[in-house]
Amino acid sequence: MLKKAILGVLSTALLVGGIGFSSGWVAAGPPGHGGKPDQPGPPPHAGKNKVENVILFIPDGYSAGYNVNYRHYKEDGDPVWDEFLTGMMTTHSTNDRITDSAAAGTAMSTGVKTNNGAVGVDPDGEKLETILQAAHDAGKSTGLVATSTITHATPAVFASHVSSRNEQEEIARQYIDEGSVDVLLGGGMDYFLPESEGGRQRERDLIQEAMDNGYQVVENRDELLSIEGDKVLGLFANDAMAPELHREETEEPSLAEMTGAAIDVLSQEDEGFFLMVEGSQIDWAGHANDAAWAMSDTAAFEEAVIEALGFADQNDETLIIVAGDHDTGGMSLGGYNSKGTDVEILHRVTATGDYMAQQINSDRTNIQEVVEEYTSITLSDEETEVIKQSTNLSLAINQTISDYAGVGWSSTNHTGVGVPVYAYGPRSDLFTGLIDNTDIPLAIAEAYRISLEN
Ligand SMILES: [Zn+2]
Repeated sequence: MLKKAILGVLSTALLVGGIGFSSGWVAAGPPGHGGKPDQPGPPPHAGKNKVENVILFIPDGYSAGYNVNYRHYKEDGDPVWDEFLTGMMTTHSTNDRITDSAAAGTAMSTGVKTNNGAVGVDPDGEKLETILQAAHDAGKSTGLVATSTITHATPAVFASHVSSRNEQEEIARQYIDEGSVDVLLGGGMDYFLPESEGGRQRERDLIQEAMDNGYQVVENRDELLSIEGDKVLGLFANDAMAPELHREETEEPSLAEMTGAAIDVLSQEDEGFFLMVEGSQIDWAGHANDAAWAMSDTAAFEEAVIEALGFADQNDETLIIVAGDHDTGGMSLGGYNSKGTDVEILHRVTATGDYMAQQINSDRTNIQEVVEEYTSITLSDEETEVIKQSTNLSLAINQTISDYAGVGWSSTNHTGVGVPVYAYGPRSDLFTGLIDNTDIPLAIAEAYRISLEN
């Protein structure tokens, strides 16, 4: 860590200093594709090293391939995090070169590698301390925000310990029993309710217990935007929340609204806070090879990062980190069947491939109409026939749309390529160069000046 930190200061100064930060994230002019850095200037927060608040953003499944596509998809400037790229991260787990989200998250929350599927425990099943729990023990307030169920692998690794990520009922029980998380926002109401109320808990009503423990419980966007307490449990869907493409059909808050609400609640605490925000469904879009879902959920994720940057600019003891846990799908710009590179056409896609597949009739005679309605793409007869004969309708639709957009995929699973790491604010130098996923929580602990014992 130390050697990296020293190298880090040098290259951060080069990287960040060369770009010429301006205040105000939204107002900052877009550098444009291939824009050259102009005036060298001091890095933000130069000379200030105190970190009270950490906001760790995990865009699940996001690699450099997503970033290059998003750079072209985005219409007004480059991705905001491009200006504070600090390094690249290796992601392998103990038992596989290709990690899953549980092992990746455990490394990012505890500093210890484990086997795929394990949540907050080492390969022998021993419980590990997480950075969230260490922050809680140091008197900080803590929060987890996700668009999956809040008991899904990535949020779970920060505040629970189970041998299998599938044990979401147990993860929910640990959240409530241990009480180390002050703000929990996401989907997954069913994992908190008893079977007698249609939930998955055999007997306990964790919603009632949370209220008894002082949590304000909210279930929709309006309720979230009017919260007042210092502990909040927000469960906005029975299972996962909606993909961004379909969120307007629901009463769910956006990821940016959840992030803003979490920051408002957590920043009431004088001792600072730790918040993890996951863009959960970028990964699901990758598994589905659904380029439009991936890009629209990345845009929603970026809005959440902008929300946090606004806070950090008013509260300069705030460190923001953005790092995917692994790549999903091996997304690239360009592919075998690409019809050019026209990522921008994905703005005209208004539904996920899953949704389109559900609109296709059983004899599959309306494929052309459905695809045209939700994508503005007029399929050729040959393309239509390929989709018609496929065993996985939504995957075939998504791959065809990706070909039109010039987006390539190498897998429907995770891949082992490195992911970019972005850090903004004091001690962002700790995240520089080629790092490993286990370095993330150790660097956060160092920035906070607290210990993480594993
Ligand atoms: Zn993941």
